[in-house]
Parts: sequence; C-alpha cells; structure tokens
Amino acid sequence: SLSDRLTATFKNLRGKGRLTEADVDATVREIRRALLDADVAVPVVREFTARIRERALGAEVSAALNPSQQIVKIVNEELQEILGGETRRIRLAKTGPTIIMLAGLQGAGKTTLAGKLAKWLKAQGHSPVLVAADLQRPNAVTQLQIVGERAGVPVFAPHPGTTSDLDVPTGDPVAVARSGVDEARQKLHDVVIVDTAGRLGVDAEMMDQARRIRQAIIPNEVLFVIDSMIGQDAVNTAVAFDEGVNFTGVVLSKLDGDARGGAALSVASVTGKPVMFASTGEGLDDFELFHPDRMASRILDMGDVLTLIEQAEKNWDKDEAARMAKKFADQEDFTLDDFLAQMQQIRNMGSMKKMLMMMPGAQNIRQQLEQFDEREIDRVEAIVRSMTPHERLAPKIINGSRRARIARGSGVHVSEVNGLLERFAQAQKMMKKLAQGGGMPGMPGMPG
Ligand code: GDP
Ligand code: MG
Repeated sequence: SLSDRLTATFKNLRGKGRLTEADVDATVREIRRALLDADVAVPVVREFTARIRERALGAEVSAALNPSQQIVKIVNEELQEILGGETRRIRLAKTGPTIIMLAGLQGAGKTTLAGKLAKWLKAQGHSPVLVAADLQRPNAVTQLQIVGERAGVPVFAPHPGTTSDLDVPTGDPVAVARSGVDEARQKLHDVVIVDTAGRLGVDAEMMDQARRIRQAIIPNEVLFVIDSMIGQDAVNTAVAFDEGVNFTGVVLSKLDGDARGGAALSVASVTGKPVMFASTGEGLDDFELFHPDRMASRILDMGDVLTLIEQAEKNWDKDEAARMAKKFADQEDFTLDDFLAQMQQIRNMGSMKKMLMMMPGAQNIRQQLEQFDEREIDRVEAIVRSMTPHERLAPKIINGSRRARIARGSGVHVSEVNGLLERFAQAQKMMKKLAQGGGMPGMPGMPG
C-alpha cells in the first residue's frame, strides 16, 4: 500500500543526518512508485514528486536538524495542499435557500449522499428538502423517497403520493429541479438538495442534462460524488464532470472499502476542487466532513501502524489470547468475564485506539473509536464485578431488579448497566462470527 511504501522509504532515511541528491532521488522514486501503486493518476504523480524533489533539495531540508523528518513534513504538507488545504464547508446562501446539486456517475453514491447530507444538515438546525431530479431509472424517485423518510426530511418529486407533488411533466428533470427549488423557497426550507441522474459512463446527453439543471437552479454548491474505488478512471471522470457542470466540491464515497486512496489525490489535484465530504458506508450516518490534514497524516502515519502493532503484540497477553482461541475452537459461550478480560487487554495495549484510527478502513468505526474512553473500562469492570458469578455466565437472567442491584453495587446509573449489557450482546454476536470465520479474538468491547 501507499503507506507501507512510504514507511519503508522513510525508514531508510531515518538514520541519516545529511541527505545527498542521490538519497533524495531514491526517496522520490519510492514515493512515485508508491503513489502509482495506490492508483494515483500518472500526471498527478509526476507533478507531486517534482514538487517534493524540488523542496527536498532546497534549503529547508539541508538546514534541518533531521532531514528525513523534514521530507516527511514536506510530503505531508503537499498531500494536504492537494487535498484542498483546509476543510471546506458548505457555502450557505445569504438569502433564500442554499441550493446543493449532486452530480456523478450512476452508482457513485449520490442518492445515498442526499440522505446523509440532509440528515446531517437537519441535525444542525437546517430544514432541508430533497428534490428527485433523477428520472432516468424507474426506481430512482422511490429510492430517494425512502432515503428522505429515513433522514426525516421531505422529498419533492413529480409523482403522486409524495410529500409534495410537483405540478410538472414527469419526464423533464430540468423542470422538476426548477419547480422543486421553487417549492422549497415557497415553503421556506433553507436548504435544497437536488439529486440528479448519472450513467455508467460519461456521456454527452447526461452531461447536457446536468448542465441544464445547473443553469436552471443556479446552485450554491455542485457536489461531484465519486466512488473512491474507481482507480485510474477517476481523472477522466472528474475532468469530464468539471468541464460539464463545473462542480464546486468533491465527495469521496465508499471510502469504507479498500480503496487505495488514489482517487482522492487525483481528483483534487487535477480539478483543483476541494474534497468536502467523505462517505464511508451505506448507513445514513456513515458520512463526515473531509479533513485534508487528517487524510494526509493518515496516509503518512500509516507507517507507524507497524510499530504500534509490534507494541500491541508485546502487551497482548499471550496466555489470555490462547485461552480465548481455545474457547472459540470449543465453541464455548462468550461470557461477561471474557468481555471484561478483553477490555483489560485493550487497556494494556495502550495505543490501541491510535493504532486502530490509522488502520485502513478505520473510517467506519472511527466515530466509536473517538468516543472510546479508557475510563470506560473501569466502569465496565465495576459493573461486571457487581454481578454474581451466575449472572456473568448467564446474563439473560439479569432482569430489572438485578440491574438495579448491580447499578447500586457499582455506583452507576441503571442505564449504564443496560448499555453495558447491550454492548456485551453485540460483542457476543461479533465473537460468534469471528469464531465461525476463525478470526483472531478482536476488540469487541468498544463502546458504540
Ligand atoms: P447513485 O446512483 O449515484 O445515486 O448511487 P446510490 O446512492 O444509489 O448508491 C449506489 C450503491 O452504493 C448503493 O448500493 C449504496 O448503498 C452504495 N453506497 C453509497 N455510498 C456508499 C458508501 O459510502 N459506502 C458503501 N459501502 N456503499 C455505498
Ligand atoms: Mg441515484
């Protein structure tokens, strides 16, 4: 992976006090290879490495106490710069509704994003509506309606039986977009999100339609949604959409998969448009603001994953792990005692949280991780210790009065006992799955 390659490269530099031009060239070569392997587009790689080389040979590096660290810093800065520098937030309209148009290929994740964005904006006190201007696929309107219902926001569509039936011909997406925005204005919604149609590949007719929608509604933001798994195709697609609809920001979807991160760099670099959001799963909450600095350091910091894993392995109690493995093999039940033991293991690992945050694919559990609090383990311990041995083995018997007793005994609120039992039930399910899949005993104690 990109990070592994960079790690290896930087490791070679680590011991050096002074870098020769040959050192710099070797490093730049490695970076180039790593980026190409990560599916970053060729012209982007060329430009990026040229800049790194120039800066690495410059005064800031030769004057640095630790030149290799300085190069890491430069790579980090340049990555961040390409990704848009600072987090770019939605520009809200000064008067009237803020109009957000979504564009992108079919399957990129536009409709899903419409729901995520609406839910997110609603939670911030906005009153968004969705407009179904994808009339290409038979189910597109229904899909948006379902998404809208889940997000708890109205959907304007040219179909009967919706929150608001737009009085326009059902076949004309431009008219639908326009009357959707008008309707939102009349009903005093402050954000309108217009979902549009895509095709499997870039084609002139679709682009023309998107362009005409854009001209009709004059959006404050045009978000180009792109599947992060798209690889080298990212550049062509992004350029076509940029020329077609002149988008204002990029949304990377499916960052939860094992995308190699190349698309992010390519699209941002080639179009010069900032990445604004990351979509990290199929659920409406799998969505976050994109932070260029975090992404850049994540790409780089991955290197430290190996070190952290080594450290974790050192602290991981081998006997305990073996005991757990045997339990799985014997298909024994995962009990509250095991749950507690695992949480203690996690605490022993110390930097576990940091390590997990840097793992590829950590995005989808990042929220949980960020909330992870080691003091929580103390509370869990207190609660479990207040249970009888029988309760620990058979938590099903823990009824209301037992819960109250356990809460009193451990000095917590009953809701915390309930929360723990819920998490335990989830962990138990997960352990069952792991056992079936033969996986290593993981870290199921994460509060969610
Ligand atoms: P559209 O054609 O651009 O509107 O794309 P959709 O929103 O219909 O999404 C296409 C498929 O990708 C659906 O099955 C979604 O559930 C899925 N999807 C969308 N965003 C994500 C994401 O961030 N992660 C994952 N894993 N799947 C996603
Ligand atoms: Mg769609």
